[in-house]
Amino acid sequence: MAALDILIYPDPRLRRVATPVVAFDAEIKRIVNDMATTMYEAPGIGLASIQVGIRHSIIVIDVSQELQDLKVLINPEILESEGEQTVEEGCLSFPGYFARVNRAEWIRFRAHNEHGECYEAEADGLYAVCIQHEIDHLSGKLFTDYLSRLKRQRVSRQFEKAARNRQRELARQAG
Ligand code: ZN
Repeated sequence: MAALDILIYPDPRLRRVATPVVAFDAEIKRIVNDMATTMYEAPGIGLASIQVGIRHSIIVIDVSQELQDLKVLINPEILESEGEQTVEEGCLSFPGYFARVNRAEWIRFRAHNEHGECYEAEADGLYAVCIQHEIDHLSGKLFTDYLSRLKRQRVSRQFEKAARNRQRELARQAG
């Protein structure tokens, strides 16, 4: 099991759209394991394949206190949603940044597990927020897309500047 590199905003690959998994083979199981390792090491409560540069439609989530309740959602889709909640969200692709976003309070969804079995389940509270946040990633959508234009511009500039500084530092080390 290897930890994968997490793409940091404004990496353009975060805008890619995932493609459905059709063959549930050993490679998919390996990707799920690597994504889980990456999420727990980060540490985070959710990770979408698009965030680690993988196009297959895969999400891993663990919102339990003990971090021993891994949820695997492959080709997930929301079937029904109800209510509203606003939670301060973070994202492994925006380290250190948090913002309040409106989401549905309750959802019913369908997904496959890593063995290719299709299941339907309900989620509410933080788990529901997390699923909605991660499913957005699979269509190239980011939680900052929900913010006002002013806030969005501010966070974009902040992360673009940090990316330029990282590149300068790499160039300095190389030279
Ligand atoms: Zn995220």
